[in-house]
Amino acid sequence: MVEHTASDSRSRSRSVIVVGAGIIGLATAWELLDAGWEVTVCDPAPMSGASFAAAGMLAPASEVVWDQPTLYGLMVSAAQLWPRLAARVATEAGRPVGHLSTETLVCAGDAADRQALADLAVLQRRLGMDLREISSSTARLLEPALGPGVVGAVRIPDDHQVDPRRIMAALFDLLEHRGTVVRQRADGVWWTAERVGGVRLADGSTLAADEVLVAAGLASGELTGLPDSLELPLRPVWGDILRIRVPERLRPLVTRTVRGLVHGSPVYLVPREDGTVVIGATSREDGLAGPSIGGVHRLLRDAQRLVPGVLECELLEVTARARPGTPDDVPLIGRVAPGLTVSTGYFRHGILLSALGARLGADLVAGRDLEPETAAAVDPRRFAPVEVR
Ligand SMILES: Cc1cc2nc3c(=O)[nH]c(=O)nc-3n(C[C@H](O)[C@H](O)[C@H](O)COP(=O)(O)OP(=O)(O)OC[C@H]3O[C@@H](n4cnc5c(N)ncnc54)[C@H](O)[C@@H]3O)c2cc1C
Repeated sequence: MVEHTASDSRSRSRSVIVVGAGIIGLATAWELLDAGWEVTVCDPAPMSGASFAAAGMLAPASEVVWDQPTLYGLMVSAAQLWPRLAARVATEAGRPVGHLSTETLVCAGDAADRQALADLAVLQRRLGMDLREISSSTARLLEPALGPGVVGAVRIPDDHQVDPRRIMAALFDLLEHRGTVVRQRADGVWWTAERVGGVRLADGSTLAADEVLVAAGLASGELTGLPDSLELPLRPVWGDILRIRVPERLRPLVTRTVRGLVHGSPVYLVPREDGTVVIGATSREDGLAGPSIGGVHRLLRDAQRLVPGVLECELLEVTARARPGTPDDVPLIGRVAPGLTVSTGYFRHGILLSALGARLGADLVAGRDLEPETAAAVDPRRFAPVEVR
């Protein structure tokens, strides 16, 4: 992990270029800045990728799905880092970043959904996660706006939230103030005789640095100059997501994140402090870049089944973005050449995992090895075909 010691600031400041200003690039750039690095971030449209869409659920327990043993440990470790990360950024930026440690309530829309939640609870408990199954009437005492269709629920105290737009804006301001931000696309990396020396920008100019970190989300593999042996197996998994404003007379609509399974289909409502609620999210691989009408219809249908008052709210925003998916849903983080580190493929959990990913990325940039089990789990080359001689 990056250590923030006095000797960091005394040592000769080394330079790093971070390609991409989504949550991963920004959080990693900030770790590096904090450790005394001279940081340049380049992005033609900062904070506009998947991180712009994200609800910001920090949900290691309710996001558990079967057969992802590597991911569980990473998600739990990341969740533990969040309170400190959010507090540090808020203090440095002098403003809150929308980190709330309110619990999550997962609701069942019918008897089969309740059974599915009960089955999952077995796995969640086996993994040491804290949860409590409650009746629908108890759930309604907690959240009076729940609809009559809710037949049971599970309380998850350790699944929290952050507002990705607020924390990214805070990080971005800190980086603009203490580092350098270049609003340009990086076309690729360039090499000296034996190592990566910097990036080539879209206007044909170049930037030089001791290290380059590629955190360009889904576009990371498109940069030129990456090692031939490196293939980043990224695929777009689109998500539609809505933002609504609750009228004063209905506030608060819900006081904690309300997730649910409605006839097998997942949906969530994440309430913000400003009276808005985020409703998400679909998961589709149909290549449709804008919001899907079917997707939006499904979200509204299922959200209003959990919380009927949704239908009385104002629709503020409909957004679709692609998550950077990987074959095993685990990110791709590693030092792939001298002077070159990649950190991408955070798929469905990039906001949660950014607290950990930023530290791992910063460690690699600084030339520190990751703990072997973690290094193997996130190795960007783990899918490369094994050569048989
Ligand atoms: C609808 C939806 C809901 C989600 N909800 C959650 C959630 O509740 N919790 C959670 O943990 N995760 C959630 N996620 C997942 C999360 O949003 C992603 O895993 C995460 O945002 C990935 O961050 P990133 O920084 O790698 O990529 P991005 O946010 O996509 O950032 C990449 C950046 O790189 C820039 N870029 C691209 N190419 C270049 C280039 N050549 N040069 C310079 N810059 C470049 C882009 O402009 C962009 O700003 C959600 C995702 C979606 C789509």
